[in-house]
Amino acid sequence: MLELAPAQAKARRIPALGLYVHVPFCAAACDYCAFYQITPTAAGVARFLAGIAREAELATANRPVDTVFWGGGTPGLLAPRALRALGEGVRGHCGGQPREWTVEMAPASVTPERLAALRALGVTRVSLGVQSFQPALLAALGRRHTVRQVRQAYAAVRAAGFASVNLDLIFAIPGQELAAWRADLDEAVRLEPDHLSTYCLTFEEDTALFARLAAGRVRRDVAAEIAYYTEAWERLGAAGYAQYEVSNFARPGHRCAHNVNTWRMQEWIGLGPSAASQFGGWRSRNVPDLDRWLAELAAGRRSGLERVELTPRLLAEDSLIFGLRMNDGVDLPALRERFPGAPWERVESLAGRLVEEGLAERAAESSLRLTLRGRLVADAVGAQIMEAMAESN
Ligand code: SF4
Repeated sequence: MLELAPAQAKARRIPALGLYVHVPFCAAACDYCAFYQITPTAAGVARFLAGIAREAELATANRPVDTVFWGGGTPGLLAPRALRALGEGVRGHCGGQPREWTVEMAPASVTPERLAALRALGVTRVSLGVQSFQPALLAALGRRHTVRQVRQAYAAVRAAGFASVNLDLIFAIPGQELAAWRADLDEAVRLEPDHLSTYCLTFEEDTALFARLAAGRVRRDVAAEIAYYTEAWERLGAAGYAQYEVSNFARPGHRCAHNVNTWRMQEWIGLGPSAASQFGGWRSRNVPDLDRWLAELAAGRRSGLERVELTPRLLAEDSLIFGLRMNDGVDLPALRERFPGAPWERVESLAGRLVEEGLAERAAESSLRLTLRGRLVADAVGAQIMEAMAESN
């Protein structure tokens, strides 16, 4: 199925291929979460594992997988035996050991046995969903773990010897003060992870938090969000974490290659209910329902919903939107060469306007990147890119 070994693929300059696996099990739903997740049962996990094995057979790529990412849900909730079964099955479809393999874990599910199973598989990165070190804020998010569990989990992950450890934090939580955010950042830095992801809380429809917002029981303070962003960028920068994307910071050599490849609009295959794929000229998403996903697989097909053709213009648009969220910015001539069919005159004119407004700069002759002020309004810049592309219809 996968015919090229990684070294051969590299020699032929084949673009990176990612493999994402959505593990849809969580012990309980967090108040802000809109991801597809269900409570695990022994039968449900067994059916899920069989489904992944079947979907991996159907999703042939004919080239080796560069990076693997298990998200969810809570992949780390699976029992060690299930982790091994999933990992060995997935690895069998990678055409060799992937160079990066990330697994998301919730602090409460970290055990030495699970970590040993992941290490034995060759997992290189563990991403720990800390979110906050303040008990009241964890409660506000509906997270079930304690701060003590976070410290114990981090120590265990470190002791297990993974090449990279990431901590996820959330800010702009209702009831949070800037001082509490500073304390969270300082505590995270004290632990010395290799990578930090800091996300602004979003209020997704169909979540408990959104219901509280709609009922007026909590409110969103958009103006304050800027202060939270800048606080993180300054503090983490001073602590030696280089920002490489609006929400992501790493010590040298610890960027998440899987995410960088998706932001650079490379290809990836998503396995599992609700997983998205971008492959072979199409973007699509699996049905977010375990039973329906399995039914499609039993009929011998993958459940590609919202199937969108990857036109040069769409890929150029997304390369600009996601690329400009990265501190390295974008290489406009290279993108032009890659997607010649996109409306590049309009893009050049928008780039000129962004530079004039102080939101972007020409870092080198070929490159455009957002300034600090531009990164703070990256979503608005993204909207302008979409407008420029739409104008060309
Ligand atoms: S935030 Fe993570 S742990 Fe919480 S419900 Fe969502 S996927 Fe599960």
